Amino acid sequence: MEVILANRLQKLRPYPFAALRRKIAEARQAGKEVLNLGIGDPDRPTPDPVVAELCRAVRDEADLNRHRYGCDVPTTEFPQAVKDFYRRRFGVALAGDQIVQTSGSKDAIVQFALGILNPGDLAIAPEPGYPTYNIGHTFASAVTHYAPLRRENGFLPDLDAIPAEVRRLARVMWLNYPNNPTTAVCALGFYRRAVEFARKHDILLASDLSYSENTYDGYVAPSILQVEGAADVAVEFFSLSKAFCMTGWRIGMAVGHAGALKALGLVKDNSDNGTLRAIQFAGARALHLAETLIPEINAVYRRRRDLVVNTLNALGWQLEKPKGTIYIWAAVPERFGGDSAGFAADLFDKTGVVVTPGAVYGEHGEGFFRISLTYPDEVLTRAMERLAEQR
Ligand SMILES: *Cc1c(COP(=O)(O)O)cnc(C)c1O
Repeated sequence: MEVILANRLQKLRPYPFAALRRKIAEARQAGKEVLNLGIGDPDRPTPDPVVAELCRAVRDEADLNRHRYGCDVPTTEFPQAVKDFYRRRFGVALAGDQIVQTSGSKDAIVQFALGILNPGDLAIAPEPGYPTYNIGHTFASAVTHYAPLRRENGFLPDLDAIPAEVRRLARVMWLNYPNNPTTAVCALGFYRRAVEFARKHDILLASDLSYSENTYDGYVAPSILQVEGAADVAVEFFSLSKAFCMTGWRIGMAVGHAGALKALGLVKDNSDNGTLRAIQFAGARALHLAETLIPEINAVYRRRRDLVVNTLNALGWQLEKPKGTIYIWAAVPERFGGDSAGFAADLFDKTGVVVTPGAVYGEHGEGFFRISLTYPDEVLTRAMERLAEQR
């Protein structure tokens, strides 16, 4: 029997890292040294107090619900920790119906799209951008309008350039600052303009705040909910993955507009069974300890960022040090005529260093490449040495 992929899967672009993984495996098999700087998944372990809380909770025989479906026996600790975190960190007060615990943002982004979009609806996503926004839209049989992020605009979408027809028809618009892949950050003033735009055109804003805690040099990332009245038009997706080196744990939260969160909650109720209580307890612990745990994590990224930027600048790039995220976003050298895949392939062949071609993130990502700082210092140092030798 031949199984044919559903149309919704055929509409997706091939998962960009699948081809890369194959290429790396082949080269390693051939005995070549591969220095992969391609994927954004923290190498550093989850902080000890968070792991300790998981172990405590999972062994707690007094908790008769510790093994049960997380959705049926939610902790009170996690939503309380979310409230405390948003108040301490952003000065934002959240009500009970303004918080949904998620299994991380990737899952929640897709579930959210299924909860709010109808077939044929229009939804706006940044480009270059995180692919999952469009994947959610596609699974919901909606259509993505891409808002280009251009260097000359500081990689912010030009709200005035969004066509009138799109403003009229779009139901939701994704924002993501600090931004993957461009590393751009935004000021609260940008969120103010976005909220005004959303109100005027009746478009829900969905802010992906995955990297708000990965910031450097005194920059503090705002939440869109700091804008007065933003919860009338916006939801925000926070994840513990990048902030606390917890990508495998699958925990985060969506906050803000209660009606939009209700839609997300309904999709979740009907498609997943929640998160193990021990993980909820540990997530609460992480949020409570944010101010102590995060500086140590960021010190590592800052050191790596400086190593990579200083190396590239010595080789002729003119990069500024990014204030946020765990990436470096750089233009490909002129001789490649803006061909990011060509540059990445050439670099890999000559040095064994793997970077992600910007075109993977959309057509306006062409001409750039991304380096992830989530690799051990030895790997990054060795990769930078190999680049320098190429000079
Ligand atoms: C990593 C990432 C996510 C997903 O993180 P989860 O582990 O699913 O919470 C979401 N958005 C962006 C922009 C990311 O880079």
